[in-house]
Amino acid sequence: MQNLFDQVIFGPIHSRRLGLSLGVNLLPVDAKICSFDCIYCECGFNTSMKDFNFPMRNEVKVILTRKLSLMVAAGELPDVITFAGNGEPTLHPDFEGIIDDTIALRNELCPSAKVSVLSNSTRVHKPHIFSALQKVDNNILKFDSAIDRTMKLIDQPVGKHIDVAWLIAELQKFEGNLIIQTMFLRGEHQGEKIDNTTDIEINAWIEALKKIHPKQVMIYSLDRETPIQSLQKVEVDELNAIAERARASGFEVSVAG
Ligand code: SF4
Repeated sequence: MQNLFDQVIFGPIHSRRLGLSLGVNLLPVDAKICSFDCIYCECGFNTSMKDFNFPMRNEVKVILTRKLSLMVAAGELPDVITFAGNGEPTLHPDFEGIIDDTIALRNELCPSAKVSVLSNSTRVHKPHIFSALQKVDNNILKFDSAIDRTMKLIDQPVGKHIDVAWLIAELQKFEGNLIIQTMFLRGEHQGEKIDNTTDIEINAWIEALKKIHPKQVMIYSLDRETPIQSLQKVEVDELNAIAERARASGFEVSVAG
């Protein structure tokens, strides 16, 4: 199963988390390329191919200018311009330049719109990625479990350097200028049970949040088809209970139901 975005700019769509969102896909339109290979990824598993083409920086700028100009002319301004798409947006070699172009276009054409990046946190150790993420309004970074085995089963990192301790240490470097996003789910993979909603998981997750100090936390569960069939959605009342536990530790938490 692969459900790919077949364009660089997509939408606008009404996002559960972000409002009227114009999407930007910096990955190839015919492949899913990511430094994680999450078992719940709505794009499917990574495409195995060696050569692929990222859209050029100038191409992204031209298409985004055209789309935003049309939206302005129609009086339909986006609430947010969201970098997401067929994988990890920070893999694009011109990521920081594209963020600079996007912020300039936003300032010129739709100054009230926010610029959001949905990233999986695996490339924040690169200075140009860290710098780019510091410039956007919503620096939304994935943190699915504070227990190493669970994180590896759910997110299936491609790079060997990725573990929970590494992620926490890198996320701390934002000094609070980040939003943590966590997917809660249950299921089975590679013969192992997965459940990141248990008491042990939630306690570890809250302890990790205390070290990371995010300005906001977004939690959600499955909404679309997943590449493996054994996964189960965590219902909204359970998400709300998890959110309450994090709020009791002082975090601002939103739940996408
Ligand atoms: S990080 Fe995002 S794009 Fe990458 S595999 Fe996970 S859900 Fe898919």
